Amino acid sequence: MTKPAPPGKAVREIVPGDSRWAELTHSDNHRFAIVPDRFVLPRKGHQVVAALQDAVDDRLEVSCRSGGHCGEDFIGAPRRNLVLDLCGLNRIAATDDGQRIRVEPGATVGEVQKALFRDWGTALPLGACSAVGMGGLVAGGGYGPLSRQLGLVADHLAAVEIAVVDEGRKVRAVTARADDDGELGELFWAHTGGGGGNFGIVTAYEFRSPAHLRSGGRILPKAAGGLNVQKIIYPWAMLDEATFATLVGRFFAWHEEHDRAGTPEASLFATFFLHHKSAQFLQLMVQSDADIDVGGAILAEFVAGLTEGTAVFGIPRGGLMTWLTGTRYMSQADCGDVMGARSASKSAYHRSAPTGDQLAVLYRHLTSDHPGQASYVMVNSYGGEINRRGSAATASPQRDSTAKSSWFTAWLDPAQDDLQIGWLRAAYEEFFAATGGVPVSGAATDGCYINYPDVDLKDARHNRSTATWHDLYYGANYERLRRAKRAWDPHDVFHHSLSIEL
Ligand SMILES: Cc1cc2nc3c(=O)[nH]c(=O)nc-3n(C[C@H](O)[C@H](O)[C@H](O)COP(=O)(O)OP(=O)(O)OC[C@H]3O[C@@H](n4cnc5c(N)ncnc54)[C@H](O)[C@@H]3O)c2cc1C
Repeated sequence: MTKPAPPGKAVREIVPGDSRWAELTHSDNHRFAIVPDRFVLPRKGHQVVAALQDAVDDRLEVSCRSGGHCGEDFIGAPRRNLVLDLCGLNRIAATDDGQRIRVEPGATVGEVQKALFRDWGTALPLGACSAVGMGGLVAGGGYGPLSRQLGLVADHLAAVEIAVVDEGRKVRAVTARADDDGELGELFWAHTGGGGGNFGIVTAYEFRSPAHLRSGGRILPKAAGGLNVQKIIYPWAMLDEATFATLVGRFFAWHEEHDRAGTPEASLFATFFLHHKSAQFLQLMVQSDADIDVGGAILAEFVAGLTEGTAVFGIPRGGLMTWLTGTRYMSQADCGDVMGARSASKSAYHRSAPTGDQLAVLYRHLTSDHPGQASYVMVNSYGGEINRRGSAATASPQRDSTAKSSWFTAWLDPAQDDLQIGWLRAAYEEFFAATGGVPVSGAATDGCYINYPDVDLKDARHNRSTATWHDLYYGANYERLRRAKRAWDPHDVFHHSLSIEL
């Protein structure tokens, strides 16, 4: 007879009728409901293997969720019989030999940031949103405010523990390491930007940073002693088309000029929220490493340069903060107005600044009469250490961009779905009109980010270019990802609307 699991150790199963059901059926984006027959919430890797084996034996549709921040309906569609919710698989610890830091996929960015700092005085270039899960973030490459200094999250990956389904439909737990050859090496590589939900269920990532980013015997980069942080508001009332174009154009130009790795300027990272005018303001969030940018001169010069010679001035808030406090100050919240919203997003990598015509398109859409309190284009710093690697070194091919944009809109009322998505499509497709409505790889742009997924890229009404959706996300790396898919998920157990095809 099977011994009953001690209280708190059993795999939790949640089915309709449970008081937790309604909460579980939504992730971050409330546009999509996730309605399987049941959720299973494992706490251990072997429980993932067992639940997956049962699902495969019964030919069930299965998917998994870590932090639930997927922008598209990858987890709920096609309708699943079973969703493994990995929120309880969230330990963060050094490996037994002390050579790597092991992080389980349900750990959130905020949890990992705190643990890395408090336990080891270290940091990884994790994302800006503290509630994003490591499960999806790392598999898609992952970037954040330290990326110009430290590269992508996946650049620090040393091993992936993953439950896979083989040709005979047997579920196996395998560990793929950075130095593995052959198919295991390909499975590892596929997790450096191939995206979640493609090859199996990751039960842990192990990190060990490249030698040139480590110091003092640490496994990962040392966290800075402090951060210079500023959140600066530019009221729309102060802006006209010319000054808008000046500020945005200069933001891009600074990044083109300062895109080299290892420079003091690479310690600066900024996010420019170009909010729709119904939000009343634009917001610049900018930080620099206070151990490098001592006194904050680089940051101050960057900020002053945006408005120099114009009548526009920003309203600043911030200052010098210790590392973890500064990081939390700059992070996107896991509470308040962002909760419960429906949303849609698009993305672009930028090699060079937009043209004057593109900025005019942007200005027109941001100042239209659209109800866009939560509609914006977020332009993020890129380049620096990210661009030290080549396009094929990891599965994330975009290695010579200088900025990355996320086009986003959020709303509460389902009746606004068409209106809000229509605004987003019009702004993005007109902005990229010269290249078929999407940012094809060329002189100015270099495709899209798989972690900001957008099913419109598969739709000829919205992607009128000759570049396919996978050209835009993966470029020449796609065929190698398909080979890994055929080797590691031959039955296509793991699939969604933008998954790697067999
Ligand atoms: C508000 C917000 C802020 C963001 N900020 C950033 C940022 O600063 N930097 C950045 O790089 N990205 C950012 N993102 C994008 C984010 O990286 C992706 O949405 C990522 O996929 C989320 O991971 P998750 O585990 O939270 O998502 P989930 O919704 O749980 O999963 C996303 C996909 O990965 C799959 N998946 C999840 N866990 C696993 C696993 N263990 N094994 C295999 N597949 C798995 C899922 O099945 C799904 O297909 C942001 C997104 C949002 C909504």
